[in-house]
Amino acid sequence: MNQNWHATLIRHMLLLITVCLIGGLVSGYYGWCLAIGLALYLGWTLKQLLRLHDWLRNHQPDEAPPDGYGLWGEVFDSIYHLQRRDQRVRGRLQAVIDRVQESTAALRDAVIMLDSEGNLEWWNRAAETLLGFKTPQDGGQPVTNLVRHPRFKEYFEAENYVEPLEIPSPINDRMRVQLHITRYGNNEHLMLVRDVTRIHQLEQMRKDFVANVSHELRTPLTVITGYLETLLDNVEDVNPRWTRALQQMSQQGSRMQTLLNDLLLLAKLEATDYPSDNQPVAIDTLLAAIKNDAQALSGPRNQRISLEAAPGVRLKGSESELRSAFSNLVFNAVKYTQDEGNIRIRWWSDEQGAHLSVQDSGVGIDAKHLPRLTERFYRVDSSRASNTGGTGLGLAIVKHVLMRHRGRLEISSVPGHGSTFTCHFAPAQLVTKQG
Ligand code: ADP
Repeated sequence: MNQNWHATLIRHMLLLITVCLIGGLVSGYYGWCLAIGLALYLGWTLKQLLRLHDWLRNHQPDEAPPDGYGLWGEVFDSIYHLQRRDQRVRGRLQAVIDRVQESTAALRDAVIMLDSEGNLEWWNRAAETLLGFKTPQDGGQPVTNLVRHPRFKEYFEAENYVEPLEIPSPINDRMRVQLHITRYGNNEHLMLVRDVTRIHQLEQMRKDFVANVSHELRTPLTVITGYLETLLDNVEDVNPRWTRALQQMSQQGSRMQTLLNDLLLLAKLEATDYPSDNQPVAIDTLLAAIKNDAQALSGPRNQRISLEAAPGVRLKGSESELRSAFSNLVFNAVKYTQDEGNIRIRWWSDEQGAHLSVQDSGVGIDAKHLPRLTERFYRVDSSRASNTGGTGLGLAIVKHVLMRHRGRLEISSVPGHGSTFTCHFAPAQLVTKQG
């Protein structure tokens, strides 16, 4: 092509010069003829240049460049070919984009793209049915204005998306949706939303079943333990051979009662996302009471229990729930620490929030058990646990109460030397002086 251009250009120039020379030969004015010829050629070139300029500025997307002769014809042709090639590439790209959009639009899960500020950029059809987004009005809106559940706002702003979030759908309270957020590119967010109503219902059935069974078992058990207590109170009327059996039955009866109470408490904690109360709780006085109960539980085992609690550091939440969580930790320390051992309870606050630690010099826990310790009925050593009368639900209760109070549990332990259970609460959960 390049070669052709050069040849065409040279041919045209030679032709022009020849015509000018013939004109010069006829008229006798070689110089003038040559000047006029070149001026005409320059004028024509400028005209073509102007046509190209006009076309470049004003052409419609698919409009072909103007026709031309000679060198300019070649230039226009090359532009035309470039334009066609560009159109084909664009067409292919558009087809790929269309296919991706069609397939994501057909997904039953919602796909939502958010910019770095959390404003809606793009979403598929499922986002309209699951979250009620409206096309195109909601484009550019902050997602927290459209999904108004308080848990979502908190979750989105905390920017910790390791665990998915489950909330009721903003358009239908009976529909449950699970949200996964992934960050990509320039801090943009990709949000995937699934309808998990069925799984939620099954989970709910399981929870209801456990709660109902526990509830139904309470009355018969109260009657049985009641009669056992009466029999034990009048033990002299009973055949002495039965005394030990009655004592054991009564002991196991109260164990079952504690188990049912713990199961019911867990069911209650699972039923809602937030604590039943949201009052300022004076943790120092609460801990002082728990310490006294722990001292009584320790009794003749004579463990040294110390308490250092910063006065005036109060938490928002439910006193009864916090009491069960903290007493579970302190009573565990008593149960799993040898006689005369040390137990240290500390409550303090700093810029990361408020913290409660329960440290003991007891048997400790092997590192391999730590990740599973808060699971229901998980026990490090079942024979040891049955001696202590534990239900295996204590730490599961602690974990749930903490979750409801924007807290988390940290466990560290050295087998044979003792364990430290620390509850960390977010600063937002603290009661400020003005509050
Ligand atoms: P349990 O009612 O059996 O104490 P928890 O859920 O409270 O159940 O605790 C689970 C397990 O964690 C216990 O069985 C025990 O093995 C272990 N554990 C809890 N606290 C301590 C502690 N302070 N020291 C050693 N082991 C502990």
